Amino acid sequence: MRENAFFTPREARERGLEFEEPAPIACRWCGKPLTPLGTELLGQVRWLMSEPCGCDEEKAERERVERMQRAEQERNVAEKVTAAGVARKFANVRTSIPEIGDFLFEFDRHGGNGLYISGIVGSGKTHAVSALARALVYEGHSVVLTNTLAMLDSIQATYGRDGNQSGGVGRFTRCDLLILDDMGKESGNGWVLTTMFQVINTRYENMRPIVVTSQYTLPALAKRLGRAGEKESAEAIASRLYEMCGIVTLLGIDHRKSEGKPWLSGA
Ligand SMILES: [Zn+2]
Repeated sequence: MRENAFFTPREARERGLEFEEPAPIACRWCGKPLTPLGTELLGQVRWLMSEPCGCDEEKAERERVERMQRAEQERNVAEKVTAAGVARKFANVRTSIPEIGDFLFEFDRHGGNGLYISGIVGSGKTHAVSALARALVYEGHSVVLTNTLAMLDSIQATYGRDGNQSGGVGRFTRCDLLILDDMGKESGNGWVLTTMFQVINTRYENMRPIVVTSQYTLPALAKRLGRAGEKESAEAIASRLYEMCGIVTLLGIDHRKSEGKPWLSGA
């Protein structure tokens, strides 16, 4: 099929257009004469291309170019998956966790709702959110997958740069999805909790979802974050997350030991 804006010489005559006869065009592969295709530019007929030949060599060449373009796209997406924070060993993982599948399926209608995924060490949380990040990047969404320590380091490192008093918070507040992996390891001093709350709350106000993983349940996380005495900030973070996130509890399937085998607690 060709675009409507293009016409053959015969169609141009039928339309009553005036034009100079186009130069003959031959297939560069088999030499067969091809029908020129023209279009009107600034009131003049210009012959810019030709109808496809349809010979095997032309088809092979078109397929080669398409293969190259696909490979290029794959490379670009793979780079974006890495840039989103997905570790190389998780770059190709998929997940069969139903809540993640549902979240992905309904992502364009999320309304700001995210997930809080808790589970013991080895229950496959990082695996699951890496798969989620990868799938969303493939769909063209901007995703940042990080842990809170790395996020806080990055914000601190860019603090006040270019007169930007909020530091590099924007990277974490503006992406389509922020995934904070393994929350609860932070030492909860005032700046840490205030900055964490600022990021989470900005996303909340802009209806941008967040996905959090932790080995702690939300109430346990609140206690953990507040252990240095900043109880109110810690509870504010936990209650915002409670408002924003569906709760998912992963049962112990240890993806790091052997895919799909039950976690043998105490064994
Ligand atoms: Zn040909």
